[in-house]
Amino acid sequence: MAGMILPRLTALVCLLVFVGTDAGAAERRPNLVVIFCDDLGYGDLGCYGNPSIRTPQLDRMAAEGLRFTDFYAAAPVCTPSRAALLTGRYAIRSGLNNVLFPDSKGGLPQSEVTIAKALKAAGYATAHVGKWHLGIHEGQRPTDHGFDSSLGLPYSNDMDANERGKGKARDPEPPLDGFDVPLLRDGKELERPAVQTTLTQRYTVEAQRVIRANTDKPFFLYFAHTFPHTPLFASPEFRGSSRRGIYGDVVQELDWSVGQVLATLRESGVAENTLVVFTSDNGPWLTQGLQGGSAGLLKDGKGCTWEGGMRVPGLAWWPGRIKPGVTSEPASTLDLLPTLLTLAGALVPTDRPLDGADLAPLLFEGKALPERPFFYYRGTRVAAVRIGEYKAHFFTQTGYGAAKPEEHTPPLLYHLGRDPSEQYNIAAKHPEIVERLIKARDEHQSAMQPGTVQPR
Ligand code: MG
Repeated sequence: MAGMILPRLTALVCLLVFVGTDAGAAERRPNLVVIFCDDLGYGDLGCYGNPSIRTPQLDRMAAEGLRFTDFYAAAPVCTPSRAALLTGRYAIRSGLNNVLFPDSKGGLPQSEVTIAKALKAAGYATAHVGKWHLGIHEGQRPTDHGFDSSLGLPYSNDMDANERGKGKARDPEPPLDGFDVPLLRDGKELERPAVQTTLTQRYTVEAQRVIRANTDKPFFLYFAHTFPHTPLFASPEFRGSSRRGIYGDVVQELDWSVGQVLATLRESGVAENTLVVFTSDNGPWLTQGLQGGSAGLLKDGKGCTWEGGMRVPGLAWWPGRIKPGVTSEPASTLDLLPTLLTLAGALVPTDRPLDGADLAPLLFEGKALPERPFFYYRGTRVAAVRIGEYKAHFFTQTGYGAAKPEEHTPPLLYHLGRDPSEQYNIAAKHPEIVERLIKARDEHQSAMQPGTVQPR
């Protein structure tokens, strides 16, 4: 017994010494900001080639930081993508395989460790701003999952449509009073329906408040924009500002918002101690017509596992730490939890499988990461896998509409470097690569322990 107590006491003393004397080091721990757009496509920003949407702030962020050509959301739709980002695990592990609705009972289980929960335990201030979409009931809300504060919508801005809003979400001028979605602060209703024309501005003010309130304490800000998910609303200042119609206006306002966040970090004197990551939860919602975004030269969009459904803009910015450049290393939102927790000196969970990797060698030393598979989930099924430049599709199905899944035996094989639009199936020429990708899928699936499916 004594033999067990001594190591425990030693560990406790070490912990107390660390907490008691290392306050200076603790103060130097970096601030961590994740800006997460909703349905922003790979081709929607100036720095990703869009000719008619102007995004000078994001273009500057990209020029000052690292721009990923091959960055992925870990699911092609909102809820599983958010669950995966915050837990560092494919959504099948938390049982959040599908989109939640306002009357859904399910949500992110308490058994999951979110980035916020781990950082809060490590002494970080933690704030959520924007869309949540991981459950509205007790135990599922932002403040139940490690966030000190929360301001935003509990789910998508097209939900709770009333008679005026039904079927109007994809209109260029949707009715402002057509969607009864509430704006919540720390779970309490502030406004219903949320006035969506000023949401981006008000979220931005809240993000700035969080930054200014924590100049002497490390903070984690999870800023999950409501837009450009439809219905689209821009403030009067941005309405009509782009060549691309309301979709472009909304994205240009998001660009302004990012500029405000970075400027506030600079003005507060903490920019050199802050990592900011910018990305999107899934590809463009193509069935929204002109009110949906663009995946550029990538195939298809939101809801499917072609590249356009899951490959999204990805920027990482940290003045003085990240060398400006462009990388084609594949990375995903699954990598954020291990990356952020390691930077913060927080405990990375070891009692459960994590699906991402620490990106530090790539971000700070420009080193290639060890080759690893990335799995494209559609619901509970692995639809495709990528290793290196090669991607195999086991089944394909467009995101929306009546089309049935098309099974592929043998799988389709594409070289994403030579053929980013996934046009030329080369499976017949490379049976050994196909075998390798099938093996990776089989090993992943046989080790997978799905979480209890959360009711929709
Ligand atoms: Mg989305």
